[in-house]
Amino acid sequence: MGQRGAVADRALTMHAHPAAACAELSPRVRQLHGEGAFDVLARARALEAGGARVAHLEVGEPDFATPAHVLEAGLRALGERDTRYGPAAGLPELRAAIAAASSARGVVTDPEDVIVTPGGKTMLFYALAATVADGDEVLVPDPGFPAYASITRFAGGTPVSYEVSARSAFALDPESIAARMTQRTRVIVVNAPHNPTGGSADERALQLIAELAAEHDVFVIADEVYDSCVYDRDRAPSIAAIPDVRELVVVVNSFSKTYAMTGWRLGFGIVPPRARERFTTLAVNGHSCVPPFVQRAGIAAIEGPQTDRHRMVDEFRRRRDWLVAQLNAVPGVTCHTPAGAFYVFPDVRGVLRASGLTTQELADRLLGRYAVAALPGTAFGRGGDGHLRFSFATSMDTLEFAVEGVRRCFADAIAGRLT
Ligand code: PLP
Repeated sequence: MGQRGAVADRALTMHAHPAAACAELSPRVRQLHGEGAFDVLARARALEAGGARVAHLEVGEPDFATPAHVLEAGLRALGERDTRYGPAAGLPELRAAIAAASSARGVVTDPEDVIVTPGGKTMLFYALAATVADGDEVLVPDPGFPAYASITRFAGGTPVSYEVSARSAFALDPESIAARMTQRTRVIVVNAPHNPTGGSADERALQLIAELAAEHDVFVIADEVYDSCVYDRDRAPSIAAIPDVRELVVVVNSFSKTYAMTGWRLGFGIVPPRARERFTTLAVNGHSCVPPFVQRAGIAAIEGPQTDRHRMVDEFRRRRDWLVAQLNAVPGVTCHTPAGAFYVFPDVRGVLRASGLTTQELADRLLGRYAVAALPGTAFGRGGDGHLRFSFATSMDTLEFAVEGVRRCFADAIAGRLT
């Protein structure tokens, strides 16, 4: 047989051999894990397909429409055929608008330090990829957004949990971070307002964390995607406003929650000036650019009227106050009033103790038998045990239906009727 014949023969054998289709995926990618919210959503949708009404309190997205002027700006750009690649780090006009808005909240930002990304999550990925080396420890809140630990492992690091505690009304506690710092700490992830608890961070807490970061020369990744969803001021304070740590802080932010734009996939980072180029290279490798028409909508969101944003937060406040009062009236439940975001994180240990159910089992029963989709606190780490997360970014009608389901479910659980 000639050489070409032998090669063709080998190719044929490889195709015919089932082992050829079983190559192992990389250990890195197997470190990634999913998100409870998407799993529960899939189960809830399956119940709905069978005809049931389900209260969706599991999803973390505003139930409001994207403001009309933002939608129109995106459509206009599409109409003008703004459908080609743009610069990897983002359109200069959008970067300038983001820098101006950030500077107005005290984070003095050069447009060159803004990197526009497809959602905040991509920026989170880049931020951890850029800062974590093999064996580094990354301090992550527990309970906390699951992607922090997942991406950290993917990047070769080790997530180390710090406590987010009901004792401090879920406010960010610098001492719990200080207690976890070691020689190997490379990054502190801070998320305020906080998912899943709605806890916040005041200037003093941020100052103490900044001092810790400066003293140990570690990065801070500040996830501020809920910064406009706060109930006692216009915007949450940012650790990046502290000049001493500007070179250590990577801000992750997004239009998703602020302007009800979850599906547009528009986020951004504010990166240390010395790291601009590296982050731009990450953007070149990872997504090339965010669709320009989406970025045009983003410019309209920042530069246009903020009335819809304020109206949304006012409505969330009204629902929050109602929901907290209702939940606190349910036997076995204690619920803090969240300072930000659109989640409540009630303590349901009274119900668990009386019923013998686990947090996960209670959430399962609540969905399967009472048609209320919520997330078990354990979807956010061990620190979430004994809690459920309910999103109140949904209509009052849905919340009323959900509270009724919760009342019946927990009463049945306490009476031993739920096994
Ligand atoms: N960070 C936190 C804490 C979140 O809750 C979310 C979304 O739920 C994100 C980041 C990512 O948001 P997006 O990728 O839609 O901007």
